[in-house]
Parts: sequence; C-alpha cells; structure tokens
Amino acid sequence: MQVPLKLQLFAIRPQPANTPVNGKCEKVNKDDLINEDDRNLHKIVCRRCKSVIFPEDVVMTVDNQPYQLRVMTHQAKGPAAFEKISWWWYTESDMVFDTVGWQTVDKKKVLMCGDCELGPIGFRSEDNKKFWVAVERVKYEKS
Ligand SMILES: [Zn+2]
Repeated sequence: MQVPLKLQLFAIRPQPANTPVNGKCEKVNKDDLINEDDRNLHKIVCRRCKSVIFPEDVVMTVDNQPYQLRVMTHQAKGPAAFEKISWWWYTESDMVFDTVGWQTVDKKKVLMCGDCELGPIGFRSEDNKKFWVAVERVKYEKS
C-alpha cells in the first residue's frame, strides 16, 4: 500500500527550533543500541531537530554514574527542574562529535544540541576532556 504523499511530507519536515518536546528521559531498548564492538549502532541525533550528535560506531555506554541534569528546554532556560540520570554515552574525545554545543548552566558545563540549542543533552568534565550524553535524552536514526 502506498503512503499518501501528504503524510510523507509531514514525516520528513524538520522540526522548527522552538517545537516543544519532552525534556526528560524516554525509555529506549538497550538491545537495539549497541553494535558488536560495544559502540553505538545507530546515528545519535537531537530529539527535536534531528541534528546529528554522534555518527555511528564512535561512543560506548557507561551505566551507574548518577548525575543531575536540568530538564531539557531551549537554551536550558526556564524554571529549574532536575532529573537524575545514570546511563550515558561516554567519550574522551571531542573529535567524535558531529555537532554539539555547550554552555554553563547552574555552574556546570553542559552539552546542548549544536543546531536548535535544546539541552542539556549531557555534560562535560571541568577540564573538557570527558563527555557524557544521556542515552535516553537523544534519538536514534537507522541509516
Ligand atoms: Zn536540535
């Protein structure tokens, strides 16, 4: 059966930067995330604008590392509400990012979508050598 053209157009239209999205973690299936090298199976993209944060096969997950992040909003503005997150994509190289932005929020160095400025999607260490992106605050795109 053919998909009506109208629906197709709707599906591929990028989300405008101010489109509201859920700012909290959303459950993802662990079995569908990791390839045989224990790295990300799919492209990791912004939940709102689908900008690519990591290409395939560059980051590994770490678990049981609790850290409080502000609930995601545009430029991390708005009332302070927090969420405790312990499951992350982790890297020690800023070279593996495709697109990422950062800003200082609540005296923490946090990572934002480099295109639509939704965030925080994660955080980085004080010395800028370690990076964590919340597994359940991003989307996955099969190539
Ligand atoms: Zn975005």
